[in-house]
Amino acid sequence: MSIIKDFLLQLTLLIIPIFIYFTFILEKVKNDRNITVIMTMLWGISILLCMSFPVNFGDGARLDIRFIPLLLGTLYLGFWPGILLSILIILYRLSFGMSPGFYNTVLVIVLSLPIILYFQKSFIRSNKDKRGGIAAGLSFYYCVLGLTLFGIIKGFSSENLEVQLLHLTFTVAVTLFCIVLIEKIREIHQLRSDIQNSEKLRVISELTGVFAHEIRNPMQVTRGFLQLLDDPDLPPKKKEYINVSIEELDRANEIIDDFLAFGKPSGNDRGKVNAGDQVERVANLIQSFSLNHQVEIKTDIVDDCWIDANPQKINQSLINIMKNAVESMPNGGIVWVTCGPTADGSIRISIKDQGVGMTKQQIDRLGNPYYSLKEKGTGLGMMVSFQIIRSFKGEIIVNSEKGAGTEFIILLPQAMH
Ligand code: ADP
Ligand code: MG
Repeated sequence: MSIIKDFLLQLTLLIIPIFIYFTFILEKVKNDRNITVIMTMLWGISILLCMSFPVNFGDGARLDIRFIPLLLGTLYLGFWPGILLSILIILYRLSFGMSPGFYNTVLVIVLSLPIILYFQKSFIRSNKDKRGGIAAGLSFYYCVLGLTLFGIIKGFSSENLEVQLLHLTFTVAVTLFCIVLIEKIREIHQLRSDIQNSEKLRVISELTGVFAHEIRNPMQVTRGFLQLLDDPDLPPKKKEYINVSIEELDRANEIIDDFLAFGKPSGNDRGKVNAGDQVERVANLIQSFSLNHQVEIKTDIVDDCWIDANPQKINQSLINIMKNAVESMPNGGIVWVTCGPTADGSIRISIKDQGVGMTKQQIDRLGNPYYSLKEKGTGLGMMVSFQIIRSFKGEIIVNSEKGAGTEFIILLPQAMH
């Protein structure tokens, strides 16, 4: 009975950092580096506590789940936290004396840390089910390793084996439980911030609407006076200045128009929409953002691509897809955007990048909510885009090659004009 009590104490000591993180740290600390430092400390404290109150059995043998904070710390935080936590375990174990148990500890860590680090990258990239699998597998490996080494050093005995099997089951189960817990709480936090974001966007779009009108009126007045200045007797140089000023004002006006189009609440009203215009508009808008990424957008748009749809919604899905294309090229590149009719009476919009590309499995998962490989991604963009295109009786085809690039093809039924 006391063994179970000891195990339960271990569980508590392990879960405390998780709750501290989600309750006090996640919201307050925004800097990734600080989070890593704080979390490494918390997992370190958890390791010290687990090791200070171990499960005692047999003749002075002890077991604890120090491995789980080490495992979770390494998997979620990376290389250096893993090394530091390992050193912490070894040093703290050393303070108990240089018994065979100490060598056992060192050996087990030396044999398991590289394996954890090997799996760390794919762990970060995996979804939550696979994360559970990876962590539980590593836990199992560690326990079997510990159990074997312990047996070799101290000799196998049936009584010890029983406790160790209990330890193995407990460690694997607790690892799985922690991963599920962490992922679940993360998901809830993510959902909350998504909602906050969309609320923020709504407010911003309302404000832009108001501001844009306030800016546009003085601009129209300025444009009018510039035109009045344009006297036939003016020297050509001055005429040129006036023309440039008017052109720039018109450009600013166009940008405001584009923003207004996005700010408009998208109702459900459908109508005849010139897809080419919308593609052009979104490409222009994205262009102003994508220049920071050294991404250039090249368009080839055929006129008169009429579809039956809601322009705001079409824009939204285009912007999601183009934004992904830009984001897929961290070192810059070109995005080709084309729009035109096909022979069999559809409108075909293609968005092609030279980015990181996707594997077959990744393409299959595209459009699932919260499927994102980006650190700050939401995994909602593609889901929304698929829904929108489907609602207009269209389809999205994805061709992609890992490392080479991706092409998104949107096919929509052509409307008679
Ligand atoms: P988010 O952009 O927030 O991650 P999305 O639903 O827009 O969410 O995209 C989901 C995932 O699909 C992305 O994280 C990315 O891994 C992948 N993806 C989408 N478009 C592309 C693309 N053009 N090239 C490579 N990967 C892409
Ligand atoms: Mg996206």
